[in-house]
Order: sequence, then structure tokens, then C-alpha cells
Amino acid sequence: MDTQTIQALRGSVTGPIVTPGDPGYDEARKVYNYMIDRHPAAVVSCRTADDVAAVVRQAAQTGTELAVRGGAHSVPGFGTADDALVVDLSGLSSVTVDSSSRTARVGGGATWGAFNDATGAFGLATTGGIISTTGVGGLTLGGGIGYLSRAYGLSCDNLLAAQVVTADGLKLTTSEAENPDLFWGLRGGGGNFGVVTEFTFRLHPVAQVYGGPMFFELSDGEAVLSYFNEFIQTAPREYGGFPGFQIAPPLPFVPEDRVGEPFIVVVSCWTGSEADGEQILQRFRDVANPVAELVGPMPYPALNSAFDGLVPRGLQHYWKAAYAGDLSKDLIRAHMEHGPKVPVVNSTVHLYPINGACHDLAADETAFGHRDATYAMVIAGMWPDPVDNDANTQWVRDYYSAIAPLSQPGGYVNFASSDDQSKVAANYGANYARLQEVKRRYDPDNLFHLNQNIQP
Ligand SMILES: Cc1cc2nc3c(=O)[nH]c(=O)nc-3n(C[C@H](O)[C@H](O)[C@H](O)COP(=O)(O)OP(=O)(O)OC[C@H]3O[C@@H](n4cnc5c(N)ncnc54)[C@H](O)[C@@H]3O)c2cc1C
Repeated sequence: MDTQTIQALRGSVTGPIVTPGDPGYDEARKVYNYMIDRHPAAVVSCRTADDVAAVVRQAAQTGTELAVRGGAHSVPGFGTADDALVVDLSGLSSVTVDSSSRTARVGGGATWGAFNDATGAFGLATTGGIISTTGVGGLTLGGGIGYLSRAYGLSCDNLLAAQVVTADGLKLTTSEAENPDLFWGLRGGGGNFGVVTEFTFRLHPVAQVYGGPMFFELSDGEAVLSYFNEFIQTAPREYGGFPGFQIAPPLPFVPEDRVGEPFIVVVSCWTGSEADGEQILQRFRDVANPVAELVGPMPYPALNSAFDGLVPRGLQHYWKAAYAGDLSKDLIRAHMEHGPKVPVVNSTVHLYPINGACHDLAADETAFGHRDATYAMVIAGMWPDPVDNDANTQWVRDYYSAIAPLSQPGGYVNFASSDDQSKVAANYGANYARLQEVKRRYDPDNLFHLNQNIQP
């Protein structure tokens, strides 16, 4: 990129711009997944919506690649690209809570940790991810699955309004009342339509929750998964946990001689009373004896950050995603064949239930097109050493090949990898054609294409 373009940008944005050769460039070009090694032309730290509009216009006018970065967690590394202008939204991270209307206004680059701390101070929360360092932006725009999904719907279901910079550099307000087609597309369309500089969310009274992880022997795996599947069909919406596979980390609650072994894990979150939570979780102990557990009452933000230490920035990532209506016997068997082979403590497999409140909306009410699924399943390969890339990637691929034929078509866009573009239509599901219409209206030249891309 020529120096004139960078100079022009420096004159029109308020935040710092880091270019190759500048101190901090090597840090600025990186994203959370260190398998991604790209060299953008400039990383522009945006502090205002006008900053964002200036970068978007500059990219459109000069035909420069444009990458948008919120929390930087995208597994395919959509928040950076060679020779690109990167809109870095981390400077737009304020969270303002209005406890009387139970709403929060959140900058487009905020993380769930900042969000939960701010809303938690008022005993309020909305559905967010299970790791606190993930961005509100990318997670919400793809749907948003977490502990509160069964109680309050997906993150995008709790969106009341969004301020958006579109491909022509215009700043638009979107809500059910203003630009409703764009607002529809934002709720599941995954960053295809513009840069959201501010989200407004509905909040719910969630202060203390009862939950945490229980580790079960692999020999009890089939029984635990079968029970979970039966339980979740009619479980009260206050229950928002999920089963999965996890190597036991070296934590005090794990017997020392079991650290490093793979287990079936059930991570629970109960938003009702503690007494009811104790009863609900006891049902899992009645199925099988946990080898280790760390269950109890805790503030919701504490549960939301409990596993952050397992997934620090800088790991190698390769993920695959599938939806399921039900955990059939065959699907459970496929999980039991591949889940126990989870290679490292950072990698995990989660089977998130997305029934309950997620099913209150019809498939066409928002862009999220998989309202008929009961589970969003993710095989999240995450490991520290690039030397292990082939082996770990192969584990994810083999696992996915086994479960895909037993699952519904498509997978959650936010859990997909860069080699999943061929599955884009299935991943957006029932709403793909309408998403294309919205894309044609707001981004006909596909300026925003570093995402699970909807073809205009
Ligand atoms: C460790 C880890 C845990 C996760 N846990 C969950 C979970 O519990 N639930 C869940 O649903 N997902 C989860 N995810 C997946 C997550 O939703 C996606 O990775 C998501 O893209 C992350 O958003 P981000 O803002 O951090 O990422 P980024 O890399 O910053 O952005 C990803 C995409 O979103 C777009 N984007 C981001 N912010 C904006 C914005 N403000 N306006 C317009 N476009 C934007 C970008 O253009 C890009 O295409 C997890 C991911 C990781 C790595």
C-alpha cells in the first residue's frame, strides 16, 4: 500500500495506525490463532464510528483488502489478511449498562469478559460465549451460543439495535424499526454486511449461578451422553450446560493420578435456585460417579471465565462444526470412538444444546437458520506446538468425518474453519437465499468477504 494512502488515513482516523516496520507491528498483525501468519498493510485502531467509516471508504476506493477484527478469536483468522487494511475495533470496547431498562450498549470490539463484568455488577446478563476473551462482535453476528442460550435464546436473539458502517461508508442505525432487513441479516449473517460499531442488548436478571464441571470415566460415557440427551429434551430452561470430552487439567480438584487422562465432562450452569440446581445436578451423579467435580454456586462472570486458562492466545486452532437434532445411538458411538482420542488438554469437544428459548423463534425470524437443531457440536482442535499441526488437524478431520453423516446438514458458522467455504450455504441453512438478497442490497461488491462468505 502506498504511503500516500496511509498518510491520508492518518489524517482522518483518531486511533494509531501500525504498518510494517513500525514498533508493535508483529504483535498487531497477529490474531488469537497463531496458525495464522499474515502481513496486513496497516492495522488501524478505530476509536469512533467515523474512524471505521474512513477505513471502509479508503478500502473501497483503493480496492484494498479489508479485514474486520473484534475480539480476534476467528479460527480461520478473518481479523487479519495479507496486504489488508485491518479495522481493529479493540478501541471501541466500552460497555454502558442501563439497569432500569435492562439494556446494555456495547462497543463493537468489546469482549464478553468486559460485558459480563459490567452487567454482572447489576446482577444482569445476556447470552454470551463460554470464554471471556471472545469478542461480542463476531460471536453475536454468527448467532451466539453459551450457558444462557436455553434460558434466553442466542446472543443475536437478545440484540435490540446495532450501529453499522456499511460498505459505502454510511453509518446506519438498525433495529426492528429501522433498516429491518439489515437488522435481520446481522442476527446470524456473520459479519457479511458491515462493521457494527455498537450493539444494544436486552439483559436478564442473572447474578449467581450453580454449576461447574463434572468429570466421568470414559466407560460411563455412553450412559452419560444418553442420559444428557434424554434430560435435555425437557430440561427446565434454567439448565444451560453441555457434555463434551476433556483431558483433566492439573487442578486441585482432580485426583493427581488422573491428571492428563481424557474424560467425559458435563459442564453445568443452572440459573434457578441453588437448591433446585443441587437436585438437577444430582441426577448426573445418579447416572455415574464423577471422578472429579468442581460444582457450586458462583457469580455468572466467574463461570464465564472459568476455562480461559485452557485456551490462551497463541495456540494453533483447527475446528469443525455440525448440528444434531438428537444424539442417536450411532452418533453417541461415533463420539465415543473419537472423543477419547482428544490429543491435548487445550483441545475439546462440546455438544451445546440449543433448544429451549432458541426454539421460540421461527427459522426466518432472524438470519440464524438452524432453529430445528437441538445441538451445535464443535470439535475444537487447539494445541500449543506447530510441530503437532498435522496430527491434531487429522484428529479433527477424522472425528468430523465420523459424525457428519449422522448429523444435520451444516454447522455453526462461528465454529467453521477456512476450508469450510464450500459448506457456506448449508452452514447458513434455511436463510441462505434471503441472506444473499440482503448482501446484494448492502454489499454488492463483497467488500466484506473475509468471513464465512455469503455470495452476493
Ligand atoms: C476460545 C474460543 C471460544 C469460543 N467460544 C464460543 C462460544 O462459547 N460460543 C460461540 O457462539 N462461539 C464461540 N467461539 C467462536 C466465536 O464465536 C467466533 O470465533 C467469533 O468469530 C469470534 O468473534 P471475535 O469478535 O472474537 O472474532 P474476530 O476474529 O475479531 O472476528 C470474527 C469475524 O467476525 C467479524 N466481526 C467481529 N466483530 C465485528 C463487528 N463489530 N462488526 C462486524 N463484523 C465483526 C469479523 O469480520 C470476522 O469475520 C469461540 C471461539 C474461540 C476461539
